[in-house]
Amino acid sequence: MDFKIVITVLCCVVVLTEGATWDYSAEHGPSKWGDDYPTCNANSQSPIDVVGSVAEIDHDLDLVDRRLFWNPPTAMSIANNGHGLVFNIEGGAYEINNDKLLPFTAVLAQYHFHWASSKTTKGSEHLLNGTQFFGELHAVHFNKKYGDIGTAIDKSDGLAVFGWFIEVGYPQPNLDFSNFLTLALSGAKYGQNSTSIASLFSLETFLPPGLDVYYRYQGSLTTPPCHESVTWTVFQDPIYIHEDQAEILATMFYEDDGSKVMKNNYRPILPLNGRKITTPPRLVRSGASAVSPTIIASLLTCIIGYFM
Ligand SMILES: [Zn+2]
Repeated sequence: MDFKIVITVLCCVVVLTEGATWDYSAEHGPSKWGDDYPTCNANSQSPIDVVGSVAEIDHDLDLVDRRLFWNPPTAMSIANNGHGLVFNIEGGAYEINNDKLLPFTAVLAQYHFHWASSKTTKGSEHLLNGTQFFGELHAVHFNKKYGDIGTAIDKSDGLAVFGWFIEVGYPQPNLDFSNFLTLALSGAKYGQNSTSIASLFSLETFLPPGLDVYYRYQGSLTTPPCHESVTWTVFQDPIYIHEDQAEILATMFYEDDGSKVMKNNYRPILPLNGRKITTPPRLVRSGASAVSPTIIASLLTCIIGYFM
């Protein structure tokens, strides 16, 4: 065989194995990912149907304080990577350093969105008690000890992803979501577009009022190469947006230069395969105030002590 042909064949093999085409179509979609990315066929994959009734209460898990997400980055951009819309955090991101919330110090790297094909269809990745939502926001953090997301991405303790469902039903436009749509339409409408963001803002602006209830399990990236490196935190309360905003997201972005609408960019659920889902103890709410289980236990001790 001619030497040049050997080189050409080797190069093609490398290209095929390192960057095989994947998308959400019938031809290259989720059911085919495992052909080129074998980990996608492994046993601890994401997303899953998060069934609250099988979740175990973990008394060692802290509640999530929304102040964690207040700090805006010092530099960020928005990108259309051909599979979704991504806010890349390029400096000054917040860290989560609480071993009762995550088993490692986690640094925000990016957040991105998955969604349906119209305001009336469903495109979240996780399900909650069998229910799918319009979309899902994923905040991706890496384990600080690995230094960067690229090094952490295939380590078993490499990533922590926080997920929030997105649902249609807000009576007027959600202004924070409008800000995202405006930025995305101006700088990330077409595949491989990317634009720096001048007016920096925090992830907290997107979040729903309630962060008390969440579910934790060990899973994977929901896109190839599907590394099983993710400590997942899926929140119960969704982010509500207006139906017009859902329609914009579902119809006005493209995977390429304008012929292929970006939609249905979600992976269907996969089996739990014996993995454990945990959840922190529930808050007991009285009116507007919240009482933690620790405080309730202290009060009970006092009351019992009084009568003994
Ligand atoms: Zn995602």
